[in-house]
Amino acid sequence: MSKHEFQTEVSDLLNLMIHSLYSNKEIFLRELVSNASDALDKLNYLCLTNDEYKKLTYTSKIDIKIDKSAKTLIISDDGIGMDKDELISNLGTIARSGTKGFLSQLSGDVKKDSNLIGQFGVGFYSAFMVADKIEVLSKKALSDEANIWSSDATSFSIKKGKKDSHGTQITLFLKDDEFLNEYTIENIIKKYSNHIPYPIFMDKEEFIPAKKDSDGKEIEPSKTELKTTQINKASALWRMQKSALKPEDYNEFYKQISHDSTDPLLYIHTKAEGKIEYSTLFYIPSVEPFDMFRVDYQSGVKLYVKRVFITDDEKELLPTYLRFVKGIIDVEDLPLNVSREILQDNAIIRSVKEASVKKILIELEKLKETDREKYIKFYTLFGKVLKEGLYGFSAQKDEILNLALFKSSKRDGLISLKEYKEAMKEDQKEIYYIIGKNANALKHSPILESLNKKDIEVLICDEEIDSIVMPMVYEFDKTPIKPASQAEFKDEKEAVDSEKFKELTAKIKEALNGEVKEVRVTNRLSDSASCLVYDKDDPDFATQQILKQMGQANLPEIKPILEINPEHEIIKKLENNKIMINDISNLLLNIAKIQEGIAIDNPNEFAKILTSVITKAI
Ligand code: ADP
Ligand code: MG
Repeated sequence: MSKHEFQTEVSDLLNLMIHSLYSNKEIFLRELVSNASDALDKLNYLCLTNDEYKKLTYTSKIDIKIDKSAKTLIISDDGIGMDKDELISNLGTIARSGTKGFLSQLSGDVKKDSNLIGQFGVGFYSAFMVADKIEVLSKKALSDEANIWSSDATSFSIKKGKKDSHGTQITLFLKDDEFLNEYTIENIIKKYSNHIPYPIFMDKEEFIPAKKDSDGKEIEPSKTELKTTQINKASALWRMQKSALKPEDYNEFYKQISHDSTDPLLYIHTKAEGKIEYSTLFYIPSVEPFDMFRVDYQSGVKLYVKRVFITDDEKELLPTYLRFVKGIIDVEDLPLNVSREILQDNAIIRSVKEASVKKILIELEKLKETDREKYIKFYTLFGKVLKEGLYGFSAQKDEILNLALFKSSKRDGLISLKEYKEAMKEDQKEIYYIIGKNANALKHSPILESLNKKDIEVLICDEEIDSIVMPMVYEFDKTPIKPASQAEFKDEKEAVDSEKFKELTAKIKEALNGEVKEVRVTNRLSDSASCLVYDKDDPDFATQQILKQMGQANLPEIKPILEINPEHEIIKKLENNKIMINDISNLLLNIAKIQEGIAIDNPNEFAKILTSVITKAI
């Protein structure tokens, strides 16, 4: 026998399991059953793909035994099993990223942390919530050696054991009697594990009525008898007819596959029976997965071929902008030994993927039209991920634009581009947006002054992702989409006479000594004297910030254009009297910067100039 210490993280986790008042202890069974089901998946897959395993005979099933006198609950499977090294590493350390994510979110607040356990379902170790001692007897398929792992949650030991067939048998020495009850166990199984693809058997007491002869005379009294009974449906839910399923069935199944204990926001079930036969069941969660913005996020979509689990580690099954989607793709006409290369190049997989993306986007569109409140909930959670799909030349750009919602310069809440278009002025030919960090500042940006005066709506884009994707969006439903800074009012009588201000603009540019690319007059402003815009082909300030954050530190310096308002008192006076041109130019530039939320290069100089100008004015 050898004795081992748990990895520190495991000890922390176990402490938490044991000492926190956790209200949802029953999930331990879901976790153990799902491990058993995984172990059967793995062995079945090997048997189908690897000749060495083909000689094995076994039944893909899970058994549960309750021993009331010994106060034990035993869960066993005929799956792949574990050898000694695997027992040590799988049940002594934490490798799974989900569990790591769980640990990184621990707050120390017992109540909050307990909730987290429910959300993540932290696997095997959750059994210590109900057991003070656990024994795992396991024999790896094709091996002759069995081992027993046992632990009281402080440390664990390994010794040789005896087991006839391959697989794993887990004995829980229960803390109290709650889970020694067949009825309780059956209910928990039905709740969480009804649709795992393998049958779960348990010995159940069955009532046998008294036997009577033809005269009605009792020849044998009634009794109860232990009978091995299948207690789950064991049918792959995604293969069932939609009409046979209730929303509760879908919701429960979601909890099984997602490690999320809240009901999903939406489910999308498709059974295709045309040229390619497949079933898909997709879910949109109602809470944000913890790893959504991590590079090593877990794919939420599992691939099955003919009901046999293949992988849940393939991030390409759906595009990254749909990485919040959880669920199952089950394809009929694929070989079971699909390799990664096949996954990427296979025409069947490709068309299932394409159809799935389309379907998900269509269903979201439906939701947007029929249940706005729910859609807003969805969009608030996942809109910023979805918008990533606007990047580059994605095939679904139009559909995603259709799904996008924006804040508006005129209305409260969120609006779609369709709603924007419906409210467009008759002579308005373009859709305008403005990008920045702070929605309120954007609404009051001088760049919008003329548009606001003319009552033209502008989309307020205040999310980081906007600065990356909005410049890549050119039109919606045949209407051009443009930054508000590029709105032109050519057809107006008051079109500005740049010639007339040529001398002044040149002087200001000279005074600003290379800080701006150009100085020009504009009719965009009404109250402000100046504003900053960027050249049509230059990234704007918000985009530049993002590019820098993304590591493009050597981005060439991109200078703004200073626009001045010829109708403004300052500009009118300056035109006639250029004595203070250096100071005023500095103020025009820096005030415009402040309004755009851009830091001033030399605040001391600005303060000095401002003070001197105020002094003169007084
Ligand atoms: P997860 O299932 O997410 O990997 P768990 O804590 O539930 O995390 O299990 C840890 C690991 O222990 C599993 O990944 C698996 O390798 C191994 N394991 C647990 N139960 C079994 C079992 N019944 N048969 C074979 N391996 C198992
Ligand atoms: Mg598990």
